[in-house]
Amino acid sequence: MNTEISIIIPCYNEEEAIPIYYEAVKDVIRFMKVTVELIFVDDGSSDNTLAILQELAGKDVYCRYLSFSRNFGKEAAIYAGLSNASGNYTVVMDVDLQDPPRLLPQMYRILQTESYDCVGTRRTTRDGEPRIRSFLSDSFYKVINKLSETEIVNGARDFRMMTRQMTDAVLEMSEYNRFSKGIFQWVGFKTKWLEFEHTERCAGDTKWPIRKLISYSLEGITGFSVAPLSLASFVGVVFWIISFIIILFIIGRTLLFGDPVAGWPSLVCIIFLVSGVQLFCTGILGQYLSKTYLETKHRPIYILKESSCSQLQTLQKGVDGDEAAQG
Ligand code: UDP
Ligand code: MG
Repeated sequence: MNTEISIIIPCYNEEEAIPIYYEAVKDVIRFMKVTVELIFVDDGSSDNTLAILQELAGKDVYCRYLSFSRNFGKEAAIYAGLSNASGNYTVVMDVDLQDPPRLLPQMYRILQTESYDCVGTRRTTRDGEPRIRSFLSDSFYKVINKLSETEIVNGARDFRMMTRQMTDAVLEMSEYNRFSKGIFQWVGFKTKWLEFEHTERCAGDTKWPIRKLISYSLEGITGFSVAPLSLASFVGVVFWIISFIIILFIIGRTLLFGDPVAGWPSLVCIIFLVSGVQLFCTGILGQYLSKTYLETKHRPIYILKESSCSQLQTLQKGVDGDEAAQG
């Protein structure tokens, strides 16, 4: 029977959450009366995740898994899952039940009966999340939406159901530095948003410490906006105007009051300020340069170590044309 819905579930050290998730999602899809496959992606876990996935795939024909050679990150796991999905519709969801499976029938119904290509989800509350995390998150959305032409919806989750057409469009974007929240918006198509309240993880701990979130945010900004690159020119012009005014002031003061040898503290401050701004702007250039550098290497987005699938496509790596490292 043709697969109607493929659910992609990235898992990184989720031995506790997988069995709970499996039971919960099975309870929901049992009533959906269509063929639903679960594609678990083991993102280089160091715990028993792979063994649990092997066991699930052994007892349930609708369960498949892909296992990476190391931790490539959730973005790579999403890409791998989508590349290997055969369903007419694809779903991306977390394994920790923070993305409620009860929404699946509703999402499917909307795509069947209304003229949408995607049903996305948003969290309405951030209760239970540390304040600093919510603050950083809100600030990130404000900044990125000012800088980027692609709207990144505040509170949007990766949890979504997409048509085959939209899935193929997402897969066309085979960039190495991936930021799915931006990619899903960039490809366009009509999205309906469902809202739900934040729930705690069913088991295990978050895999996103603040340090990782910050680098993920930078990924989003550099991936979907080049505005920071203009900052250097803008600051340069502002400093040029300020220094012109100061030069006029110094000439005037010297002509009126002579030339007292003073002012080295202010000079030092100005040197510090200007060199700080210069380093900051060089840093921005460096960020873009490093992303460009990684893109030009055309490295695979992920490398599979093993999978439950026999199809040839699952033995391919994430990027076309580079098959040498698979072995
Ligand atoms: N995840 C992954 N690779 C990583 C980090 C996370 O596949 O390097 C998966 C993780 O197993 C989970 C999902 O991504 O299914 C979301 O992670 P988590 O729940 O830790 O993030 P949070 O909900 O705290 O933002
Ligand atoms: Mg989570």
